[in-house]
Amino acid sequence: MHKKEDCIFCKIVSGDIPSKKVYEDDHVLAFLDISQVTKGHTLVIPKTHEENIYELSSASAEHVFKAAPKVARAIKNAFLPEGINLLNNNGELAGQSVFHFHVHLLPRYGKGDGFG
Ligand code: 5GP
Ligand code: ZN
Repeated sequence: MHKKEDCIFCKIVSGDIPSKKVYEDDHVLAFLDISQVTKGHTLVIPKTHEENIYELSSASAEHVFKAAPKVARAIKNAFLPEGINLLNNNGELAGQSVFHFHVHLLPRYGKGDGFG
């Protein structure tokens, strides 16, 4: 149903689809969400295609959550939010729309979405 060949995030990893990168290492990529719920809204993904939390390998879990604090600090420094929420949707019913595991980092601002 959700074919790896059609995966938008795999195409972002390969560079076939452009993205605004926030952080990258050998295993992980973080980039700005195309639809910014708040300023600096970022997605952290493993470079390997794993659909969701049920498929996520221990190694990818480690890589993603090791990178998350670095990404959070980069967002904090760049956009000066007052807080950040981490969110992860698994399954269509739970709001997952791209079937390549990702964690949202959602910066929070005292007033509104930060775009002011
Ligand atoms: P989900 O709803 O699966 O938790 O989150 C998927 C997210 O991917 C959405 O917030 C959506 O805006 C974002 N997204 C979908 N397509 C693209 C794209 O081509 N580029 C970027 N940067 N983000 C995308
Ligand atoms: Zn993928």
